[in-house]
Amino acid sequence: MTRGNPSSPSAAKPGPFRSLGGWLERPDDIQPCLCGDDSADVIVVGAGFAGLCTALELTALGAKVIVLEQEFAGFGASGRNAGYLGGGQGLEYELFLKRVGHEQARSIIRFYDEGVGYVERKLGELGIDCDYNPSGIIRAGVHPSQEKRLRESMELGVSLGSPATFLDHAQMRARGIPPAFLFGCHIPGGGTLNPGKYVLGLRRAAIRAGVRLYENTPLLGYSEGPVIECKTPQGSARAPHLVFATNAYTPQLGLLRDKVMPIKVSAIETRPLSPAQLASLGWPNREGIMTSHLTMESHRLTAHNTLVLTTKRISYVYGSKTPNEPDHVAYQQLAIALHQRFPTLRGLDIQHCWSGYISLAFDALPVVGETGKQQNIHYTAGCSGHGVATQSFIGHLLAERIGGIEHPLLAALRHKTPSLLPEPLQWCAMTLALGAAHQLDSFTNRRVHKAG
Ligand SMILES: Cc1cc2nc3c(=O)[nH]c(=O)nc-3n(C[C@H](O)[C@H](O)[C@H](O)COP(=O)(O)OP(=O)(O)OC[C@H]3O[C@@H](n4cnc5c(N)ncnc54)[C@H](O)[C@@H]3O)c2cc1C
Repeated sequence: MTRGNPSSPSAAKPGPFRSLGGWLERPDDIQPCLCGDDSADVIVVGAGFAGLCTALELTALGAKVIVLEQEFAGFGASGRNAGYLGGGQGLEYELFLKRVGHEQARSIIRFYDEGVGYVERKLGELGIDCDYNPSGIIRAGVHPSQEKRLRESMELGVSLGSPATFLDHAQMRARGIPPAFLFGCHIPGGGTLNPGKYVLGLRRAAIRAGVRLYENTPLLGYSEGPVIECKTPQGSARAPHLVFATNAYTPQLGLLRDKVMPIKVSAIETRPLSPAQLASLGWPNREGIMTSHLTMESHRLTAHNTLVLTTKRISYVYGSKTPNEPDHVAYQQLAIALHQRFPTLRGLDIQHCWSGYISLAFDALPVVGETGKQQNIHYTAGCSGHGVATQSFIGHLLAERIGGIEHPLLAALRHKTPSLLPEPLQWCAMTLALGAAHQLDSFTNRRVHKAG
């Protein structure tokens, strides 16, 4: 088997940086910003999957809803992700299993798995065409040394109620999976979608449903009380409930500073593959593939026949900041992964690169709850790199909660999130931990190359 040199200068050069995700453009019908005063039953801050789904579900329950979005709906991670609609397989079980115990972990995994079905239903109900391919997802190994950990993780996921099947080398080849991926675990639920089309579909549905979406409207501050007042640059909004659906941006708003940290995740997208290049891959079902590195690589084909690669190198910015800036080292690493995993695509150009932020708690679990004297300030964050399903489904659970019903799966998410460290310790700890993971992954990649 031919494999590229991981440090080969012939790896494709990363293309230009996009300050938005590669899946969407700023909408032509940007909704007016909030000028003056408005009031509603609920104010939602942030218009990604979480904010839009919460707003839609609340509206369906008869509530009047205002959404404040600093840029436009889909500007955050929801318009920048890889589009894997996945459930409870592949989570970092070791980080939370002991803390929450087996029973609660099973319910948490159910929350992840039910999120997949929720999105599938919403796509139908709301008539959103986002190129969804329900192929399932494959977590794959690129070197034999990854097999034991992958099998153990899969079996633990199965024991917690999330189905998956191990695929050996012959089964991977029979499925036509590109040969760099030696073995894997097939997760039958979910698949891949175009997250830009999905989030813009939610945006359209929300506007259609009568949600008052104010774009270019950052929340500047808020006052607590039975009625909460939110300040924006040119106005204010009042409501008895406030929902923070600002995910990785939440610590900057003064909330969850000691619970979640933003982690920068990057992506590259190639130019469309020619028919010959596509044929050289095989890959008839186009399953999204994630590798079982410590910091995974994700590889997927899109409906427009490009390849999108994400992750591989992630970073933490001092002080939980989220600058919308390129990460050239990550793009270079992803370009090398493209070259290494798909040697038949040598010379394929990368059309653009982008980065975004996920929010991560030390136990890698969702962070949901209420705060404020009246307990009427709700928040959701911390779904790490698994927010397509979960941050959509949470909208349903939060809306029910505000309506007075606590869904058992929302109850299951309640647990004590471990506290983060103060700066500069937080930065030092993350830089060391991520650096060590990258070193170990590079070691695995060098072994792949030597074996090639
Ligand atoms: C590169 C990348 C790849 C990923 N791949 C996957 C994947 O394949 N599968 C998966 O499940 N997950 C993936 N994720 C994670 C997933 O995208 C997120 O978990 C999910 O989109 C979070 O949705 P959200 O609505 O909670 O947050 P966001 O989409 O980040 O929305 C938060 C919104 O809040 C707004 N906001 C922030 N501050 C303010 C303010 N002061 N006032 C008003 N508005 C504000 C932001 O502009 C933003 O629009 C990936 C993430 C990245 C970055």
